[in-house]
Amino acid sequence: MRTENICIDMHCKKCRKSFRVSYELTGMDAAPVLPNITLKCGTCKRTATFKKYTEAKLIEISKDNKALV
Ligand SMILES: [Zn+2]
Repeated sequence: MRTENICIDMHCKKCRKSFRVSYELTGMDAAPVLPNITLKCGTCKRTATFKKYTEAKLIEISKDNKALV
């Protein structure tokens, strides 16, 4: 069911603002997502670090191509 070139936009879990970062799905569930990348929210200053995120996990938490991280 998955089509190519789907991008998941990263949003702050706390204030829901966009991190202005998108991840393009590769179609491999086990693919690591932005490993060891830290995103800093410009609005609430929260930081989110991707340590054990895989595509499967990202898809699980995403809705309408948006993921709250
Ligand atoms: Zn925020």
